[in-house]
Amino acid sequence: MFSDPNDPLIQPGVIPLHASAADPIFIADPATVFADRAQRFAQLAARGDGQQTFFAFMAHLSQAQHGAVANVDPGDGPAAATLDLRYTMQMPILPAGLADRDPAWVGALRCVLDASVARGEALPAAAEAARTRLFEASDAEIDRQGGALLAYEYESLAVDVVPWLAAGLQVYWVVAIARVGRARVRSLDSHGVCPCCGSLPVASLRHIGGLQQGLRYLVCSLCATQWHLVRVKCSHCESTAGIGYLTLSADLDSDAGKAAATREVVKAEVCDACSSYLKLVSKEADAHADPIADDLATLALDLLTDERGYQRVGPNLFIHPGVPAA
Ligand SMILES: [Zn+2]
Ligand SMILES: [Zn+2]
Repeated sequence: MFSDPNDPLIQPGVIPLHASAADPIFIADPATVFADRAQRFAQLAARGDGQQTFFAFMAHLSQAQHGAVANVDPGDGPAAATLDLRYTMQMPILPAGLADRDPAWVGALRCVLDASVARGEALPAAAEAARTRLFEASDAEIDRQGGALLAYEYESLAVDVVPWLAAGLQVYWVVAIARVGRARVRSLDSHGVCPCCGSLPVASLRHIGGLQQGLRYLVCSLCATQWHLVRVKCSHCESTAGIGYLTLSADLDSDAGKAAATREVVKAEVCDACSSYLKLVSKEADAHADPIADDLATLALDLLTDERGYQRVGPNLFIHPGVPAA
């Protein structure tokens, strides 16, 4: 484990001067977020490291999400007074919790299924079987399963439907939040959950370019909203002490090993105060990096970090915990 890997001038809890000028929240653009992720998955599939089938399927699924966006009707959404109240109270603007979920999201999943079929691509047998079952399932049954996934209650969920459910939920929330708009969203007192939907982050993202250069944003596992958090701070317990980094680079005891680790796209930011971790994905290391795709490409890092006794903070909704993704 080593201390802040990229910038020795940034100390725990210290905010770079330009951070105050940068927008603390970015909502996802439905026109690009899934298409960009599909490109990243296609890149990962082309690496030929034994996971081509899995990453090719994820590229297909991301393209199906992109294809679904134009057809999704997010409904009327909450009344303006409700949105104003949530803004005033610093609550997530479209919470994804069980009680608040809008069943209109099922329509978004059906758009993803249609877009998938329209692409005419061969799928792994399990993925195709799950798609067929979801086509035939009632809206109520799909909504029940989506609610279980949002509540991280995996016991009642078949492994093979999870990626499809996640795809539909993401499309719905990305489209619905874009329709509400950035102006109605504000930062929450708690940095641990998404200001738009209240979900946990999938990872942190270190930005490049503009006022965001070098800043760290947490990325929502559901709606892909990004919200700023100072670097070297635990998103779970907000401790700035006892933060360190683990990577898949072998030799962190040598200077050469540490130098190699700083160039890694994905590191685990671990917190000794609460024994949790969240991955940090660096666009400085790879401008095409995607928090969700690069997380799935580094599951070995989760194994390493778990072995050291750290618990992961946020989910990747595309995978059923405890089951290998590929
Ligand atoms: Zn969110
Ligand atoms: Zn912590």
